[in-house]
Amino acid sequence: MGQTLLRKVWDLHTVRQLPTGQTQLFIGLHLIHEVTTPQAFDALRANGWTVAFPERTFATVDHIIPTRERQRPFLDVMAEDMMASLERNCRDFGLRLAGLDDDRQGIVHVIGPELGLTQPGMTIACGDSHTSTHGAFGSVAFGIGTSQVRDVLASQCLAIEPLKVRRVRVTGTLPQGVYAKDVILTIIQRLGVRGGTGYAYEYAGEAVDRMSMDERMTMCNMSIEGGARVGYVNPDATTIEYLRGRPFAPAADRFDEMAKWWRSMASDADAAYDDEVEVRAGDLTPVVTWGVNPGQSIGVDGHVPSAAETGADAEATADALKYMGLTPGQAIAGMKVDVAFVGSCTNSRLSDLREAARIVKGRRVARHVKALVVPGSASVSRAAEREGIADVFREAGFEWRDAGCSMCLGMNPDKLEGSQVCAASSNRNFKGRQGSPTGRTLLMSPAMVAAAAVSGEVTDVRRLM
Ligand code: SF4
Repeated sequence: MGQTLLRKVWDLHTVRQLPTGQTQLFIGLHLIHEVTTPQAFDALRANGWTVAFPERTFATVDHIIPTRERQRPFLDVMAEDMMASLERNCRDFGLRLAGLDDDRQGIVHVIGPELGLTQPGMTIACGDSHTSTHGAFGSVAFGIGTSQVRDVLASQCLAIEPLKVRRVRVTGTLPQGVYAKDVILTIIQRLGVRGGTGYAYEYAGEAVDRMSMDERMTMCNMSIEGGARVGYVNPDATTIEYLRGRPFAPAADRFDEMAKWWRSMASDADAAYDDEVEVRAGDLTPVVTWGVNPGQSIGVDGHVPSAAETGADAEATADALKYMGLTPGQAIAGMKVDVAFVGSCTNSRLSDLREAARIVKGRRVARHVKALVVPGSASVSRAAEREGIADVFREAGFEWRDAGCSMCLGMNPDKLEGSQVCAASSNRNFKGRQGSPTGRTLLMSPAMVAAAAVSGEVTDVRRLM
């Protein structure tokens, strides 16, 4: 019987089985940022500990930094404190930091892959829920909390419960105007936001095989929103070609040998899975969330459900409809938006910006809409400037910002106000997520955000193609 990638990587990194039933796993790469580290480093100092493997740790700043007017000290005292702590901690503990003025700075889940730090067969941890992004490379990547960040800094190990594997096969071909974001939103809607509890999701099938690494990252990024602890795609030729020549990828004389090993980590053809589901790509449409979790979504040509239609979820549905100001049966297309946000670790890579720019080109942002594009990294930003994409957005009336998490979460100056409705390419539509306790978030693909920005309302992007 063959093995899954999860099993192979897990076994290779197992230090020992713990009496709790957990596995002590060695972590190959620890990515850190300013928000979940200050207390972890304080604990190290208080105990007189050092960082066990500084060369396996890489830091950047993303969550709290402003995306414009970045002069220090920041106006937000708490943000300045976090930034200064990370700088001091990286200096004191000898860690690499892509800081504010570093041309590698960006969202932690964007820069790890683009620098070639993220590689197949690795175990990866980061104090952010969306660390599952890195699974797109065939790594096993865990989002962790501050106390686990402390543990990984001090020991390079994590205590983790064993996971089952569900293979999610996306068969067939995606229609025009339907993107990886629509696929993952559909999977979460069908399997539920807690459907993946206790599982790793292995994404497979011809639609996934054909996806670029950027698209696979979008899929894996949102695994956690479906309750899965990790999500991954088996490494293949696309993975290998993406990594070739990246700054931290193996050097040219070792690369092919490593690539051979990476491919050997893929799940075997006769591997057994704990569960399998199939999603037919050809049946999918652009998706929009109507509620307050990423599973509450419908096709853009659909109608908002009533509480009664959602069975066991009736109470949650009624609550979400009330919060969102929607009535049962209302068409989601045509819902007015106030803000359009293209960004976040789900959808802020160059290919995302290209798709959004394709829709925006030659059009203007609707008069009542505030629209912003926040590239995922300084590198994405430079590439978009070179390609002329940044100008397409600026000419249409978008604000073009510096790299950071921005409006994905309300921890920096980019926030919703009052009950504004935001068409967002990010990953969470929880109540208050974007900084206003009454702000309303509609998750969708970057192209759909662009369509909403120029039309001023939720719009089927296929009509603008
Ligand atoms: S963009 Fe959002 S989800 Fe991604 S790392 Fe930043 S805050 Fe976390």
